[in-house]
Amino acid sequence: MTEEEEQAAERLEAARRLFAGPVDFMLSAPGLQHLPSADVPEVAFAGRSNVGKSSLLNALANRSGLARTSNTPGRTQELNFFAVGAPPVLRLVDMPGYGFAEAPKDVVRRWRFLVNDYLRGRVTLKRALVLVDARHGLKEVDREVMTLLDRAAVSYRLVLTKADKVKATELAAVQAATAAEARTHAAAHPDILATSSAKGGGIAELRAAVLEAVEP
Ligand code: GDP
Repeated sequence: MTEEEEQAAERLEAARRLFAGPVDFMLSAPGLQHLPSADVPEVAFAGRSNVGKSSLLNALANRSGLARTSNTPGRTQELNFFAVGAPPVLRLVDMPGYGFAEAPKDVVRRWRFLVNDYLRGRVTLKRALVLVDARHGLKEVDREVMTLLDRAAVSYRLVLTKADKVKATELAAVQAATAAEARTHAAAHPDILATSSAKGGGIAELRAAVLEAVEP
């Protein structure tokens, strides 16, 4: 193994160990006054409704039922916090899904206010992961969220979900197209991770990317 490969293997192992330990639901914050104290670094997960965010959080934490899969528009307008490690090394923040069809205007407005305020004001937020369905690639509403993150100066990474649903050649094409677009956004990481909660592909790498985001 080269030194670089050895370091990569060490990072994967450190992340595996971290997520094999305690991952605990902390609280649901319907507004900024309900946030937990800002004393642990946070990594936030965003994505269109049904992108596979809950499944990915559960796969990351290696347990089912941690993140609830509820897609009822208007019922998921809160930020859910999960502490990873005891004492906590980091927190996962499950942001409400966006882009659901026929969402009432006030729901969309509330989403914008909550998310915008959190993204702009949270000193402990180290990175956001924006999940994108590998079958569909980036949609207009994803681009809007990317622009929101650019403006809030929150560094973020695009993560393809449900990679098992597309052929390898298709996946490579979507990954390349997504990377090309990421390069046009100021705060986006240039590398696109591909994951499958169903088959486990990319989950170890995603754990490492989460841990790396909070390391000094
Ligand atoms: P959320 O609304 O973003 O939290 O999405 P969910 O995690 O509830 O997933 C939405 C749907 O996609 C569910 O039917 C999941 O079973 C399915 N799904 C999620 N991740 C994967 C995956 O990696 N592969 C496959 N084949 N299906 C997935």
